[in-house]
Order: sequence, then structure tokens, then C-alpha cells
Amino acid sequence: MWSSPAVIAENNFIYKSLSNWAFNVAVGCSHACRFCYVPSAATIKQGPKLAEYGVKDPDAEWGDYVLLRPWDEEKFLASLRSAENAPRAQLKPGGNRAVIYCSTTDPYQVIRHPNPVRQRELAEHARFLVRRSLELIRDESTLNVRVLTRSPLARTDFDLFKSFGKRLVFGMSLPTLRNDLAKVYEPKAPAPSQRLAALRAAKDAGLHVFVALAPTYPECDAADLRGTLEAVADLEPITIFHEPINIRAENVARIEAQAAGMGVRLRTDVFDTRESWQDYAVKSLHTVSELAKQLGIEKHIHLWPDKSLGSQALADRMPNPSKYLRRLDHWWHRVSEWPK
Ligand code: SF4
Repeated sequence: MWSSPAVIAENNFIYKSLSNWAFNVAVGCSHACRFCYVPSAATIKQGPKLAEYGVKDPDAEWGDYVLLRPWDEEKFLASLRSAENAPRAQLKPGGNRAVIYCSTTDPYQVIRHPNPVRQRELAEHARFLVRRSLELIRDESTLNVRVLTRSPLARTDFDLFKSFGKRLVFGMSLPTLRNDLAKVYEPKAPAPSQRLAALRAAKDAGLHVFVALAPTYPECDAADLRGTLEAVADLEPITIFHEPINIRAENVARIEAQAAGMGVRLRTDVFDTRESWQDYAVKSLHTVSELAKQLGIEKHIHLWPDKSLGSQALADRMPNPSKYLRRLDHWWHRVSEWPK
């Protein structure tokens, strides 16, 4: 167990229009996505504390540690009141006055422990953290909730989600439909086919769904992206977010080590230089945008171009630099949809 309790805290999203606040049930994440951006921040902010738990290298060991946060109802309620009373004029409009579950871990991950009794206790605690906090947000505030997960375990809470009405949106991260590819990039996360089935079940249950094609891999070519977009278009999601893999701290080394360990060749050459990464990122964003137009779903697309793609040097390589920069600005300031 981690030392500080699970509370609602301001989040650090600037250009993603996901939420104003985050509720995180744990430090660490058992899905172990190799590209994950979280461990670099964990290393900086929580390195010394994690060392006390025996985590020597929070980045290299990402996916091997999950420290659940304790529950303190008074502290949670204080954080809930603070969010509820935050002056609306001071909130970023892109946040939709929502709390995201979760921003630095997954709310529905599998908790592993060598002792089966302790594992069951921890799994129950994780489930309690999510359910109790959601009940309090629903009953003691007017805040919205955005649930984002890679796990079909969320299905057990669909009834609770439904009780929020238009105040809750439910989404899955689904970069590809290829289970084999996801096994390399997201080795311990549930397969994309399971996630798509969970999204369908959410839609059938009457939930407002969104999808994050995030992050799509260098192997996700136009045919792959089209397949994923066609599958999710059927679900009529309120928003389809998309981003390629951005380079953060040691994530490329993590991806390469995973691929080497599995004897798989990946297109990690796109990360070799800043220019090659920019080419892959811009092409990926452009392809999704064009495919969405062809599929008639462009108004639901919400691209997440990394801020570094706005450099003048890169813009000057584009056929129309000012149009390129205007488009980036549009995406950075776009407010994502919320059910009316
Ligand atoms: S599910 Fe999210 S937080 Fe967890 S490892 Fe994957 S990207 Fe990181």
C-alpha cells in the first residue's frame, strides 16, 4: 500500500481535453505498457519514496509494481468539496468539469500478489476505491466523470456508471485491433478484441462511450487505422481521441527491450531521430484525420498532436506552414464533446 490516500487532485493535462481533475487508485500500473509516459514522472516525483518499497528504477521496472492508495473518506470528501467549489471561470473549459479515472494508472487492472489471500484483499480494496469514490461523486457533487481503461473488468461497474446519466462517459484505449501487436507494446493489458467487446457492451448498456486510439504504433498503417476506426465508428462514440507514440524518458528503450525479449522486429527506427519521429507522428495524425473524413466521422475526431510538433522548423517543411500551425492550434484548443 502507498502512503498517501486516494483523493481527487488537479491533473496536468494541458492539451488533451480529458478532465480538470484526476482520481488515481495506485502508484504504478500492472498493464505495463512499454510506451507509457507515466514512469518518467514517477521517477522524478516519487523515486525516493518508491526506493523505500524496493523499487530501484521506477522507469525500467514499470509494470512490476502497483502500490494501492489507502482510503480516507474524510480526506476524499475534502478533495471532492474543493473540486466542487472551484470557480467555474477558473477551470480550463476543455476539462468539461470532469474527474478522470485514472490519469497515471488504470482503474481496472489486475492486482497481483504472491500470497493469494493478500491478492484477494488488495483486489477488493482496488474495487472499493473505485466504487465508493464514484458513489460519493455522484451523490455529493455535480462533477462529471470520465472513465478510461484498457480492461473489460470495468463491465462489473456498468450499472454504477449508468446511474450517473449524462454525467459520466466511459472509454477504452484501443490503438489497434491486432492482438499480437498489442501483446508486444502492452504486454500485460487485456487484448484489443476484449476491449472492443467491452465497448460494445457499454454501448448496449446505454452508456456514453468514447475511444482513445492512443497511442497508435509505428506498425499501425492506413489499413490498420482504417480497421480500428471502422470498428469504433459502429459504436457512435461521442469522441475519438488519437495520438501516435511520443518519446518520453526511457519509453523507446522499454519498447525495444520488450521486442528483443519476444524476438519480434518492430519499426522502432522511427524513433531514431527527431525528424524521423516527427514524420511518423505527423503522418499518423494526418492519416487518421483523412480516414475519419472518408468514414464520415470527422466531427468526432480529436487529435492530440504533441506540442513539439509546433516547431517552426517542422512547419517550414510542410507545403503550407501557416495552415499547418493553425491546424495544430485548433487541436490543442479543441474542447471534447460531453453528452447534452
Ligand atoms: S494502462 Fe495507462 S497508465 Fe497503465 S501502463 Fe498502460 S498507458 Fe500506462
